[in-house]
Amino acid sequence: MQSAFRDRRSRCAVKEETMKKVVKFGGSSLASAEQFRKVGDIIRADSNRKYVVPSAPGRRYSGDSKVTDMLYTCYERAAQGMDFQNDIFAIRKRFDEIINGLGLDLSLNEEFAVIEENFRKKAGRDYAASRGEYLNGILLANYLGIEYIDAADVICFTEEGQFDPETTNKVLGDRLRQTERAVIPGFYGAKPDGTIVTFSRGGSDITGSIVARACHAAVYENWTDVSGFLLTDPHIVENPVVISTITYKELRELSYMGASVLHDEAIFPVRQAGIPINIRNTNDPDAPGTMIVKTTGVKSKYTITGIAGRKGFAAINIEKDRMNSEIGFGRKVLEAFEINGLSFEHMPSGIDTLSVFLEYEAFAEKEQAVLAAINRTTQPDLITIDTDLALIAVVGRGMKDARGTAGRVFASLAHARINVRMIDQGSDEENIIIGVRNDDFEAAIRAIYQIFVDVQLG
Ligand code: ASP
Repeated sequence: MQSAFRDRRSRCAVKEETMKKVVKFGGSSLASAEQFRKVGDIIRADSNRKYVVPSAPGRRYSGDSKVTDMLYTCYERAAQGMDFQNDIFAIRKRFDEIINGLGLDLSLNEEFAVIEENFRKKAGRDYAASRGEYLNGILLANYLGIEYIDAADVICFTEEGQFDPETTNKVLGDRLRQTERAVIPGFYGAKPDGTIVTFSRGGSDITGSIVARACHAAVYENWTDVSGFLLTDPHIVENPVVISTITYKELRELSYMGASVLHDEAIFPVRQAGIPINIRNTNDPDAPGTMIVKTTGVKSKYTITGIAGRKGFAAINIEKDRMNSEIGFGRKVLEAFEINGLSFEHMPSGIDTLSVFLEYEAFAEKEQAVLAAINRTTQPDLITIDTDLALIAVVGRGMKDARGTAGRVFASLAHARINVRMIDQGSDEENIIIGVRNDDFEAAIRAIYQIFVDVQLG
Protein backbone atom coordinates (compact mmCIF):
# COMPACT_ATOMS: atom_id res chain seq x y z
CA MET A 1 0.00 0.00 0.00
CA GLN A 2 2.64 2.33 1.24
CA SER A 3 4.90 1.82 -1.77
CA ALA A 4 2.05 2.13 -4.24
CA PHE A 5 1.27 5.48 -2.68
CA ARG A 6 4.89 6.56 -3.01
CA ASP A 7 4.98 5.44 -6.62
CA ARG A 8 2.04 7.53 -7.47
CA ARG A 9 3.62 10.52 -5.81
CA SER A 10 6.83 10.19 -7.75
CA ARG A 11 4.86 9.91 -10.96
CA CYS A 12 3.18 13.20 -10.04
CA ALA A 13 6.58 14.77 -9.50
CA VAL A 14 7.70 13.68 -12.95
CA LYS A 15 4.49 15.09 -14.37
CA GLU A 16 5.10 18.47 -12.73
CA GLU A 17 8.62 18.58 -14.11
CA THR A 18 7.56 17.66 -17.65
CA MET A 19 4.70 20.18 -17.78
CA LYS A 20 7.01 23.20 -18.13
CA LYS A 21 5.45 25.97 -20.18
CA VAL A 22 7.04 28.84 -22.05
CA VAL A 23 4.82 31.90 -22.31
CA LYS A 24 5.37 34.68 -24.81
CA PHE A 25 3.43 37.94 -24.57
CA GLY A 26 3.02 40.23 -27.57
CA GLY A 27 3.31 44.01 -27.55
CA SER A 28 -0.36 44.77 -27.00
CA SER A 29 -0.36 42.42 -23.96
CA LEU A 30 2.37 44.57 -22.39
CA ALA A 31 1.44 48.03 -23.62
CA SER A 32 0.39 49.51 -20.26
CA ALA A 33 0.36 48.89 -16.50
CA GLU A 34 -3.18 47.54 -16.83
CA GLN A 35 -2.03 44.97 -19.41
CA PHE A 36 0.98 44.05 -17.25
CA ARG A 37 -1.42 43.20 -14.43
CA LYS A 38 -3.34 40.80 -16.68
CA VAL A 39 -0.05 39.20 -17.68
CA GLY A 40 0.97 38.87 -14.03
CA ASP A 41 -2.35 37.17 -13.21
CA ILE A 42 -1.94 34.73 -16.10
CA ILE A 43 1.58 33.76 -15.04
CA ARG A 44 0.64 33.38 -11.39
CA ALA A 45 -2.41 31.27 -12.27
CA ASP A 46 -0.24 28.34 -13.39
CA SER A 47 3.03 27.44 -11.65
CA ASN A 48 4.15 25.57 -14.78
CA ARG A 49 4.56 28.88 -16.60
CA LYS A 50 8.29 29.01 -15.96
CA TYR A 51 9.88 31.05 -18.73
CA VAL A 52 8.45 34.32 -19.97
CA VAL A 53 9.32 36.00 -23.26
CA PRO A 54 8.08 39.59 -23.63
CA SER A 55 7.81 41.86 -26.68
CA ALA A 56 8.33 45.61 -26.40
CA PRO A 57 5.26 47.65 -25.37
CA GLY A 58 2.89 47.88 -28.34
CA ARG A 59 -0.08 50.10 -29.13
CA ARG A 60 -2.44 51.02 -26.27
CA TYR A 61 -5.15 52.25 -28.62
CA SER A 62 -5.53 52.54 -32.39
CA GLY A 63 -3.32 55.34 -33.64
CA ASP A 64 -0.81 54.84 -30.80
CA SER A 65 2.85 54.01 -31.55
CA LYS A 66 4.73 50.81 -30.82
CA VAL A 67 7.89 51.35 -28.78
CA THR A 68 9.91 49.46 -31.43
CA ASP A 69 8.80 51.97 -34.10
CA MET A 70 9.65 54.86 -31.77
CA LEU A 71 13.12 53.38 -31.27
CA TYR A 72 13.73 53.07 -35.00
CA THR A 73 12.71 56.71 -35.54
CA CYS A 74 14.78 57.91 -32.62
CA TYR A 75 17.84 56.05 -33.85
CA GLU A 76 17.44 57.42 -37.37
CA ARG A 77 17.74 60.93 -35.96
CA ALA A 78 20.72 59.94 -33.83
CA ALA A 79 22.44 58.31 -36.82
CA GLN A 80 22.01 61.51 -38.83
CA GLY A 81 23.61 63.48 -36.02
CA MET A 82 20.29 65.19 -35.19
CA ASP A 83 19.00 65.95 -31.71
CA PHE A 84 16.99 62.98 -30.40
CA GLN A 85 16.17 64.14 -26.88
CA ASN A 86 12.43 64.48 -27.47
CA ASP A 87 12.24 61.04 -29.02
CA ILE A 88 14.10 59.35 -26.21
CA PHE A 89 11.98 61.24 -23.69
CA ALA A 90 8.77 59.91 -25.27
CA ILE A 91 10.13 56.34 -25.11
CA ARG A 92 11.23 56.79 -21.51
CA LYS A 93 7.75 58.06 -20.68
CA ARG A 94 6.16 54.83 -21.95
CA PHE A 95 8.25 52.74 -19.56
CA ASP A 96 7.92 55.14 -16.62
CA GLU A 97 4.14 55.11 -17.00
CA ILE A 98 4.15 51.33 -16.61
CA ILE A 99 6.59 51.43 -13.67
CA ASN A 100 4.51 54.07 -11.87
CA GLY A 101 1.21 52.42 -12.76
CA LEU A 102 2.44 49.19 -11.16
CA GLY A 103 4.02 51.01 -8.22
CA LEU A 104 7.39 49.32 -8.80
CA ASP A 105 10.53 50.34 -7.00
CA LEU A 106 12.60 50.44 -10.18
CA SER A 107 14.54 53.14 -12.00
CA LEU A 108 15.75 52.84 -15.59
CA ASN A 109 18.13 55.82 -15.22
CA GLU A 110 21.27 53.80 -15.74
CA GLU A 111 19.87 51.84 -18.67
CA PHE A 112 18.72 55.00 -20.44
CA ALA A 113 22.10 56.70 -19.88
CA VAL A 114 23.83 53.74 -21.58
CA ILE A 115 21.26 53.66 -24.41
CA GLU A 116 21.66 57.39 -25.12
CA GLU A 117 25.43 57.03 -25.13
CA ASN A 118 25.25 54.09 -27.54
CA PHE A 119 22.82 55.93 -29.82
CA ARG A 120 25.31 58.78 -29.96
CA LYS A 121 28.04 56.28 -30.84
CA LYS A 122 25.76 54.92 -33.58
CA ALA A 123 25.59 51.40 -32.17
CA GLY A 124 23.32 50.24 -35.00
CA ARG A 125 19.64 49.92 -35.91
CA ASP A 126 19.33 46.42 -34.49
CA TYR A 127 20.78 47.52 -31.17
CA ALA A 128 18.33 50.42 -31.10
CA ALA A 129 15.26 48.32 -31.92
CA SER A 130 16.19 45.61 -29.42
CA ARG A 131 16.09 48.03 -26.48
CA GLY A 132 12.28 47.84 -26.33
CA GLU A 133 12.36 44.14 -25.44
CA TYR A 134 15.50 44.57 -23.32
CA LEU A 135 13.87 47.21 -21.09
CA ASN A 136 10.46 45.56 -21.02
CA GLY A 137 12.14 42.35 -19.89
CA ILE A 138 13.84 44.12 -16.97
CA LEU A 139 10.52 45.64 -16.02
CA LEU A 140 8.58 42.39 -16.25
CA ALA A 141 11.21 40.43 -14.28
CA ASN A 142 11.05 43.07 -11.54
CA TYR A 143 7.25 42.96 -11.48
CA LEU A 144 7.15 39.16 -11.32
CA GLY A 145 10.08 38.94 -8.89
CA ILE A 146 11.97 36.43 -11.04
CA GLU A 147 15.37 36.30 -12.73
CA TYR A 148 16.22 38.27 -15.88
CA ILE A 149 18.35 36.69 -18.60
CA ASP A 150 19.60 39.09 -21.28
CA ALA A 151 18.86 37.51 -24.68
CA ALA A 152 22.31 38.76 -25.84
CA ASP A 153 23.88 36.09 -23.59
CA VAL A 154 21.81 33.13 -24.78
CA ILE A 155 20.41 33.73 -28.29
CA CYS A 156 23.41 33.25 -30.56
CA PHE A 157 24.03 34.63 -34.04
CA THR A 158 27.06 33.85 -36.23
CA GLU A 159 29.74 36.41 -37.20
CA GLU A 160 27.78 36.86 -40.44
CA GLY A 161 24.64 37.72 -38.51
CA GLN A 162 22.76 34.45 -39.14
CA PHE A 163 20.82 32.86 -36.28
CA ASP A 164 22.78 29.86 -34.97
CA PRO A 165 20.17 27.35 -33.74
CA GLU A 166 22.43 24.61 -32.42
CA THR A 167 24.81 26.84 -30.43
CA THR A 168 21.79 28.66 -29.03
CA ASN A 169 20.09 25.43 -28.05
CA LYS A 170 23.18 24.35 -26.11
CA VAL A 171 23.98 27.70 -24.45
CA LEU A 172 20.36 28.49 -23.62
CA GLY A 173 19.56 24.92 -22.56
CA ASP A 174 22.51 24.92 -20.10
CA ARG A 175 21.46 28.27 -18.72
CA LEU A 176 17.83 27.29 -18.24
CA ARG A 177 18.77 24.10 -16.43
CA GLN A 178 20.26 26.34 -13.74
CA THR A 179 17.34 28.74 -13.66
CA GLU A 180 13.99 27.67 -12.30
CA ARG A 181 12.04 30.66 -13.63
CA ALA A 182 13.13 33.61 -15.78
CA VAL A 183 12.22 36.39 -18.16
CA ILE A 184 14.10 36.31 -21.49
CA PRO A 185 13.36 39.27 -23.78
CA GLY A 186 12.25 38.45 -27.31
CA PHE A 187 13.34 39.66 -30.76
CA TYR A 188 17.15 39.79 -30.42
CA GLY A 189 20.38 38.02 -29.64
CA ALA A 190 24.05 38.72 -30.28
CA LYS A 191 27.02 37.72 -32.42
CA PRO A 192 30.08 36.18 -30.72
CA ASP A 193 31.63 39.69 -30.37
CA GLY A 194 28.52 40.93 -28.54
CA THR A 195 27.03 42.94 -31.43
CA ILE A 196 23.23 42.89 -31.12
CA VAL A 197 21.23 41.35 -33.98
CA THR A 198 17.42 41.28 -34.22
CA PHE A 199 15.13 38.87 -36.00
CA SER A 200 12.71 40.39 -38.51
CA ARG A 201 9.67 42.30 -37.23
CA GLY A 202 7.44 40.31 -34.93
CA GLY A 203 10.46 38.16 -34.05
CA SER A 204 9.68 37.70 -30.35
CA ASP A 205 7.52 34.80 -31.51
CA ILE A 206 10.72 33.16 -32.72
CA THR A 207 12.48 33.69 -29.40
CA GLY A 208 9.56 32.05 -27.58
CA SER A 209 9.82 29.04 -29.84
CA ILE A 210 13.60 28.79 -29.34
CA VAL A 211 13.19 28.95 -25.55
CA ALA A 212 10.49 26.26 -25.68
CA ARG A 213 12.78 23.94 -27.61
CA ALA A 214 15.77 24.59 -25.33
CA CYS A 215 13.88 23.75 -22.12
CA HIS A 216 11.85 20.88 -23.64
CA ALA A 217 8.62 22.63 -22.80
CA ALA A 218 5.35 20.72 -22.83
CA VAL A 219 3.71 23.63 -24.60
CA TYR A 220 4.61 27.04 -25.98
CA GLU A 221 1.87 29.50 -25.09
CA ASN A 222 1.79 32.52 -27.35
CA TRP A 223 -0.39 35.21 -25.77
CA THR A 224 -1.74 37.89 -28.04
CA ASP A 225 -4.88 40.00 -28.46
CA VAL A 226 -7.06 37.55 -30.39
CA SER A 227 -8.66 34.37 -29.09
CA GLY A 228 -6.76 32.15 -31.49
CA PHE A 229 -6.27 31.56 -35.16
CA LEU A 230 -9.44 32.54 -37.01
CA LEU A 231 -10.88 30.33 -39.73
CA THR A 232 -10.64 33.24 -42.13
CA ASP A 233 -9.80 36.93 -42.34
CA PRO A 234 -12.06 38.99 -40.01
CA HIS A 235 -11.81 41.92 -42.43
CA ILE A 236 -13.73 39.81 -44.93
CA VAL A 237 -16.05 37.68 -42.78
CA GLU A 238 -17.55 39.21 -39.66
CA ASN A 239 -16.57 37.34 -36.48
CA PRO A 240 -15.19 34.18 -38.04
CA VAL A 241 -14.98 31.14 -35.75
CA VAL A 242 -11.71 30.26 -34.02
CA ILE A 243 -9.83 27.18 -35.20
CA SER A 244 -9.43 24.92 -32.16
CA THR A 245 -6.71 22.61 -33.53
CA ILE A 246 -4.52 23.07 -36.57
CA THR A 247 -1.42 21.20 -37.73
CA TYR A 248 1.87 22.94 -38.48
CA LYS A 249 1.43 21.92 -42.09
CA GLU A 250 -2.02 23.50 -42.39
CA LEU A 251 -0.74 26.61 -40.67
CA ARG A 252 2.12 26.91 -43.17
CA GLU A 253 -0.34 26.71 -46.07
CA LEU A 254 -2.62 29.33 -44.57
CA SER A 255 0.12 31.73 -43.51
CA TYR A 256 1.76 31.43 -46.91
CA MET A 257 -1.53 32.55 -48.39
CA GLY A 258 -1.70 35.59 -46.15
CA ALA A 259 -3.17 34.56 -42.78
CA SER A 260 -1.10 35.83 -39.88
CA VAL A 261 -1.04 35.52 -36.12
CA LEU A 262 2.42 34.15 -35.66
CA HIS A 263 5.78 34.93 -37.25
CA ASP A 264 6.44 32.35 -40.02
CA GLU A 265 9.84 31.40 -38.65
CA ALA A 266 8.45 30.70 -35.18
CA ILE A 267 7.17 27.33 -36.27
CA PHE A 268 10.50 25.63 -36.95
CA PRO A 269 12.17 25.24 -33.52
CA VAL A 270 9.07 23.80 -31.83
CA ARG A 271 7.99 21.78 -34.83
CA GLN A 272 11.39 20.10 -34.82
CA ALA A 273 10.95 19.26 -31.13
CA GLY A 274 7.29 18.26 -31.50
CA ILE A 275 6.11 20.91 -29.02
CA PRO A 276 2.60 22.31 -29.59
CA ILE A 277 1.92 26.05 -29.71
CA ASN A 278 -1.16 27.36 -27.96
CA ILE A 279 -2.33 30.78 -29.21
CA ARG A 280 -4.12 32.54 -26.34
CA ASN A 281 -5.77 35.88 -25.66
CA THR A 282 -4.44 38.01 -22.79
CA ASN A 283 -7.76 39.88 -22.70
CA ASP A 284 -9.79 36.64 -22.53
CA PRO A 285 -7.58 34.22 -20.60
CA ASP A 286 -10.30 31.58 -20.13
CA ALA A 287 -10.73 31.05 -23.87
CA PRO A 288 -8.82 27.89 -24.89
CA GLY A 289 -7.43 29.52 -28.04
CA THR A 290 -5.87 27.52 -30.87
CA MET A 291 -3.58 24.50 -30.52
CA ILE A 292 -0.99 24.18 -33.27
CA VAL A 293 0.27 20.61 -33.33
CA LYS A 294 2.45 18.27 -35.36
CA THR A 295 -0.10 15.46 -35.72
CA THR A 296 -3.60 15.05 -34.43
CA GLY A 297 -6.57 12.72 -34.61
CA VAL A 298 -8.87 15.61 -33.71
CA LYS A 299 -11.27 16.18 -36.58
CA SER A 300 -12.06 19.73 -37.58
CA LYS A 301 -15.64 20.59 -36.87
CA TYR A 302 -16.25 22.18 -40.25
CA THR A 303 -14.37 19.70 -42.52
CA ILE A 304 -12.12 22.55 -43.61
CA THR A 305 -9.62 24.07 -41.20
CA GLY A 306 -9.14 27.49 -42.76
CA ILE A 307 -9.52 29.75 -45.78
CA ALA A 308 -6.90 32.31 -46.78
CA GLY A 309 -5.90 34.07 -49.94
CA ARG A 310 -4.07 36.86 -51.66
CA LYS A 311 -4.74 39.21 -54.55
CA GLY A 312 -2.39 40.40 -57.24
CA PHE A 313 -1.49 37.34 -59.29
CA ALA A 314 -1.06 36.91 -63.04
CA ALA A 315 -1.49 33.86 -65.25
CA ILE A 316 0.71 33.38 -68.29
CA ASN A 317 -1.19 31.04 -70.62
CA ILE A 318 0.71 29.21 -73.32
CA GLU A 319 -0.90 27.29 -76.16
CA LYS A 320 0.76 25.03 -78.66
CA ASP A 321 -0.61 22.20 -80.78
CA ARG A 322 0.66 18.80 -79.59
CA MET A 323 2.26 20.31 -76.53
CA ASN A 324 1.40 17.09 -74.72
CA SER A 325 3.84 15.02 -76.76
CA GLU A 326 6.71 17.51 -76.81
CA ILE A 327 9.24 16.26 -74.29
CA GLY A 328 10.81 19.00 -72.18
CA PHE A 329 8.15 21.61 -72.96
CA GLY A 330 7.30 22.27 -69.31
CA ARG A 331 10.95 22.53 -68.35
CA LYS A 332 11.64 25.09 -71.09
CA VAL A 333 8.69 27.23 -69.97
CA LEU A 334 9.77 27.14 -66.34
CA GLU A 335 13.34 27.92 -67.32
CA ALA A 336 12.13 31.23 -68.76
CA PHE A 337 10.95 32.15 -65.27
CA GLU A 338 13.99 30.73 -63.55
CA ILE A 339 16.55 32.68 -65.59
CA ASN A 340 14.62 35.83 -64.74
CA GLY A 341 14.73 35.08 -61.01
CA LEU A 342 10.97 34.49 -60.70
CA SER A 343 9.32 31.80 -58.63
CA PHE A 344 5.90 30.53 -59.62
CA GLU A 345 2.92 29.46 -57.53
CA HIS A 346 0.93 27.01 -59.66
CA MET A 347 1.06 25.42 -63.09
CA PRO A 348 -2.27 23.97 -64.18
CA SER A 349 -2.31 22.41 -67.62
CA GLY A 350 -4.57 21.05 -70.35
CA ILE A 351 -3.56 18.89 -73.30
CA ASP A 352 -2.26 21.71 -75.46
CA THR A 353 -2.29 24.51 -72.90
CA LEU A 354 -0.26 25.32 -69.86
CA SER A 355 -0.55 28.26 -67.47
CA VAL A 356 1.91 29.60 -64.97
CA PHE A 357 0.56 31.54 -62.01
CA LEU A 358 2.82 33.96 -60.19
CA GLU A 359 2.80 37.28 -58.33
CA TYR A 360 2.02 40.03 -60.77
CA GLU A 361 4.25 42.71 -59.28
CA ALA A 362 7.42 40.67 -59.56
CA PHE A 363 6.45 39.46 -63.04
CA ALA A 364 5.57 42.92 -64.42
CA GLU A 365 9.19 44.10 -64.33
CA LYS A 366 10.41 41.07 -66.24
CA GLU A 367 7.40 40.56 -68.50
CA GLN A 368 9.05 41.04 -71.89
CA ALA A 369 12.20 39.15 -70.96
CA VAL A 370 10.11 36.15 -69.86
CA LEU A 371 7.92 36.21 -72.97
CA ALA A 372 10.98 36.47 -75.20
CA ALA A 373 12.52 33.45 -73.50
CA ILE A 374 9.32 31.38 -73.84
CA ASN A 375 8.99 32.32 -77.50
CA ARG A 376 12.62 31.48 -78.18
CA THR A 377 12.68 28.09 -76.53
CA THR A 378 9.17 26.74 -77.15
CA GLN A 379 7.81 28.51 -80.27
CA PRO A 380 4.23 28.54 -78.94
CA ASP A 381 1.13 29.21 -81.05
CA LEU A 382 -0.19 31.78 -78.60
CA ILE A 383 0.65 33.39 -75.31
CA THR A 384 -1.96 35.36 -73.35
CA ILE A 385 -1.67 37.05 -69.99
CA ASP A 386 -4.41 37.42 -67.38
CA THR A 387 -3.77 39.89 -64.61
CA ASP A 388 -5.88 40.95 -61.61
CA LEU A 389 -6.21 37.41 -60.32
CA ALA A 390 -6.52 36.30 -56.73
CA LEU A 391 -5.71 32.90 -55.26
CA ILE A 392 -7.70 31.36 -52.44
CA ALA A 393 -6.55 28.34 -50.44
CA VAL A 394 -9.14 26.13 -48.77
CA VAL A 395 -7.10 24.06 -46.34
CA GLY A 396 -8.00 21.11 -44.13
CA ARG A 397 -6.64 17.74 -43.07
CA GLY A 398 -10.26 16.57 -42.92
CA MET A 399 -10.89 17.13 -46.64
CA LYS A 400 -9.38 13.89 -47.94
CA ASP A 401 -11.77 11.76 -45.89
CA ALA A 402 -14.87 13.78 -46.64
CA ARG A 403 -16.85 13.18 -49.78
CA GLY A 404 -18.12 16.19 -51.69
CA THR A 405 -15.77 18.85 -50.28
CA ALA A 406 -14.71 20.13 -53.69
CA GLY A 407 -18.34 19.95 -54.80
CA ARG A 408 -19.40 22.17 -51.94
CA VAL A 409 -16.62 24.69 -52.63
CA PHE A 410 -17.58 25.05 -56.29
CA ALA A 411 -21.32 24.96 -55.69
CA SER A 412 -20.91 27.86 -53.26
CA LEU A 413 -18.93 29.84 -55.82
CA ALA A 414 -21.42 29.10 -58.60
CA HIS A 415 -24.25 30.17 -56.34
CA ALA A 416 -22.44 33.46 -55.67
CA ARG A 417 -21.99 33.85 -59.45
CA ILE A 418 -18.23 33.74 -59.23
CA ASN A 419 -16.26 32.56 -62.20
CA VAL A 420 -13.49 30.13 -61.25
CA ARG A 421 -10.34 30.77 -63.29
CA MET A 422 -8.14 28.03 -61.93
CA ILE A 423 -8.37 24.92 -59.75
CA ASP A 424 -5.45 23.10 -58.20
CA GLN A 425 -5.51 20.42 -55.53
CA GLY A 426 -2.39 19.61 -53.50
CA SER A 427 -1.23 15.99 -53.85
CA ASP A 428 -1.82 15.42 -50.12
CA GLU A 429 -5.47 16.43 -50.66
CA GLU A 430 -5.18 18.87 -47.79
CA ASN A 431 -5.78 21.95 -49.88
CA ILE A 432 -7.71 23.22 -52.86
CA ILE A 433 -6.39 26.35 -54.52
CA ILE A 434 -8.85 28.41 -56.50
CA GLY A 435 -8.07 31.31 -58.82
CA VAL A 436 -10.71 34.04 -59.15
CA ARG A 437 -10.73 37.65 -60.32
CA ASN A 438 -9.40 40.16 -57.77
CA ASP A 439 -12.84 41.75 -57.69
CA ASP A 440 -14.46 38.46 -56.71
CA PHE A 441 -11.96 37.70 -53.96
CA GLU A 442 -13.94 38.76 -50.88
CA ALA A 443 -17.25 37.41 -52.16
CA ALA A 444 -15.62 34.06 -52.92
CA ILE A 445 -14.19 33.74 -49.40
CA ARG A 446 -17.56 34.67 -47.89
CA ALA A 447 -19.34 32.09 -50.04
CA ILE A 448 -16.97 29.28 -49.05
CA TYR A 449 -17.12 30.26 -45.38
CA GLN A 450 -20.87 30.28 -45.51
CA ILE A 451 -21.24 26.82 -46.97
CA PHE A 452 -18.84 25.16 -44.53
CA VAL A 453 -19.37 27.12 -41.33
CA ASP A 454 -22.65 29.00 -41.36
CA VAL A 455 -24.56 26.04 -42.78
CA GLN A 456 -23.00 23.72 -40.18
CA LEU A 457 -23.76 26.13 -37.34
CA GLY A 458 -27.30 26.32 -38.65
N1 ASP B 1 8.94 44.49 -30.99
C1 ASP B 1 9.27 43.84 -32.21
C2 ASP B 1 8.33 44.35 -33.31
O1 ASP B 1 7.53 45.24 -33.09
C3 ASP B 1 9.27 42.36 -32.11
C4 ASP B 1 7.98 41.74 -31.62
O2 ASP B 1 7.10 42.41 -31.12
O3 ASP B 1 7.85 40.52 -31.75
O4 ASP B 1 8.41 43.88 -34.41
